[in-house]
Amino acid sequence: EHKERYVVKTEQSEYDAEIIGNLRFTAQDRSDFPAVGDWVAISEYDADKVLIHAVFPRTTSIERQAVGKHGEKQIIATNIDYAFIVQAVDRDFNVNRMERYLTICHTSNVSPIIVLNKIDLISDTELSIVVNNIQERIKNVPIIPISNASKKGLTALKTHIKKGKTYCLLGSSGVGKSSLLNNLSGKALMKTNTISSSTNKGRHVTSHRELVILEHGGILIDNPGMREVGITDVKAGLEMTFNEIIAYSKDCKFKDCTHTVEAGCAVLSAVERGDIDHSSYENFLKMEREKEHFEATVAEKR
Ligand code: GDP
Ligand code: ZN
Repeated sequence: EHKERYVVKTEQSEYDAEIIGNLRFTAQDRSDFPAVGDWVAISEYDADKVLIHAVFPRTTSIERQAVGKHGEKQIIATNIDYAFIVQAVDRDFNVNRMERYLTICHTSNVSPIIVLNKIDLISDTELSIVVNNIQERIKNVPIIPISNASKKGLTALKTHIKKGKTYCLLGSSGVGKSSLLNNLSGKALMKTNTISSSTNKGRHVTSHRELVILEHGGILIDNPGMREVGITDVKAGLEMTFNEIIAYSKDCKFKDCTHTVEAGCAVLSAVERGDIDHSSYENFLKMEREKEHFEATVAEKR
């Protein structure tokens, strides 16, 4: 996907693609346009161009708030089974952001797998501290430490890739997603995909996303590095990601407890006792507020 132009892959080949007018006409909003990961119905236009007639129903759709557009969703990838949430252990490492990605994955029933890259840059002791820090807040999500440089952990990561399943890479730019894509695809790929411009044939613009069919039959989609991962209507995702907090909240005195100032708030007591991690609690509240703001903006627009 690059603006309103697309690259469609078939089993045999790869084509530049445009959507037919009717698809634009019937679209209610951006999410009805093709997105990375979609299965689409195409017809041949000429030797190297196809037309997209329809987008088939999606099994999953990972979404964030469109940057700079309150109350609007942007699709990150569709039809994903598993998301690799990639962070580099040296600089980028941030558990708050992990919880944010978990929330958007869980909202769409995408199974998350945390990938800690660049472990060649830290010692084993430092790595175990990092892993412990994550596990204090994030339970029941696989954590796979790897290095694209030393290739350590890549075999373990590959055991998570199953035939016929679709995977995507989520993470900021610079964490090593392209390097991982190259390592998993088993062959040297171009760093970026290219789409020829229809107005200027032969000139190539760089697309922001890649899709590779892996040797053993999994499909892997790289996404552009994201700086902002704005929350949408992620109630289900918050409940799964922060299931401990939600469990405590059932004992709050007030049904509409905001877990901030109320007397008889079971969440606040658990935080005070240290049964709920304080940073997790703050991150939860922050995302709750973002979710409410998103939903209020959508309601206002109606
Ligand atoms: P992306 O923006 O997430 O796609 O990240 P890239 O794959 O382009 O990697 C960003 C930089 O990190 C490049 O300079 C890579 O060579 C480097 N890099 C990627 N993986 C590793 C790793 O495992 N160890 C080290 N030391 N550097 C890495
Ligand atoms: Zn409460």
